[in-house]
Amino acid sequence: MKPALFDYIRVTTVDDAIRALGSCNDAKVIAGGQSLVPMLNFRMVDTPLFVDINGIDDLRGITETSNGGLRIGALTRHFELEVSPLIQERYPLLHEAMKYVAHLAIRNRGTIGGSISHADPAAELPALAVLLDAMIVARGPRGERQIAAVDFFEAPLTTSLEADEIVTAVELPPLPENSGWGFEEFAQRHGDFAVVGVAALVGKYGARISVFGAHNTPLRAREAEKAFGSGDTNAAAEALQSEVDPSDDLHGSADYRRHLAGVLCKRALNNAMSGYAL
Ligand SMILES: Cc1cc2nc3c(=O)[nH]c(=O)nc-3n(C[C@H](O)[C@H](O)[C@H](O)COP(=O)(O)OP(=O)(O)OC[C@H]3O[C@@H](n4cnc5c(N)ncnc54)[C@H](O)[C@@H]3O)c2cc1C
Repeated sequence: MKPALFDYIRVTTVDDAIRALGSCNDAKVIAGGQSLVPMLNFRMVDTPLFVDINGIDDLRGITETSNGGLRIGALTRHFELEVSPLIQERYPLLHEAMKYVAHLAIRNRGTIGGSISHADPAAELPALAVLLDAMIVARGPRGERQIAAVDFFEAPLTTSLEADEIVTAVELPPLPENSGWGFEEFAQRHGDFAVVGVAALVGKYGARISVFGAHNTPLRAREAEKAFGSGDTNAAAEALQSEVDPSDDLHGSADYRRHLAGVLCKRALNNAMSGYAL
């Protein structure tokens, strides 16, 4: 398949990117191109103008923030997250999850900003952003704003980003001290999108749980978190099964996904609890 004709501009500053987006209705940012190019070739996306942000050096890199968290530039590639010592040390579950994101060739190009903006409900990074209370940093002609990840994802492939805004970074607050973690994903083949996945943290505060592939957005499972209380994994899994609203597709029925969400939730919580003495 070949895409429809489009214009292309490569920019080197965020301001130029914003100007270019504002200059043309339906212009689209291209980062790693790993989701956008297939959609373009299948004619699921049609844009008159691509704004290539790969020349914006300010969007690269992982830096420490003053509160002990990390700021991850939007153009940081999946592979850079996977091998970053800072990520491994501070967010071991993010390090673990990156191995499940697509295949190495795709991880070499795909970016955190692209994954977050693409907002696939079965993707790992949006679900982890929701679990880790990440802030999405966006800039547009009206300036910069920070959007909590739980408010960012609105529907499949739909976010609260305006058409003339770009994601510039994802900020992660530090993990609560002494948290255990668990990450469980079921996919048909390694590297495929998850059928369902669950990520969990357990600590003094109880549990944090997020699920992907079982709802129309990545879901922070507040009911399951409440049901977990001070360690009831069965109650949490049952609550999660009522909380998710999966769809049928060729990879699995809604009932199957709901069942899987419960099974993976229990496993993720058990793993998280084994890393933390309640
Ligand atoms: C075979 C295959 C398997 C895959 N498997 C997985 C998987 O298991 N898990 C997973 O999570 N992903 C998977 N992916 C998707 C991959 O991770 C993509 O790289 C990612 O979803 C999009 O990142 P990108 O940088 O390539 O974005 P692009 O494809 O360049 O863009 C995606 C969308 O985000 C917008 N965008 C990009 N950057 C920005 C920005 N900074 N600000 C505003 N908008 C922006 C674009 O306009 C576009 O709408 C897979 C892809 C393929 C081809």
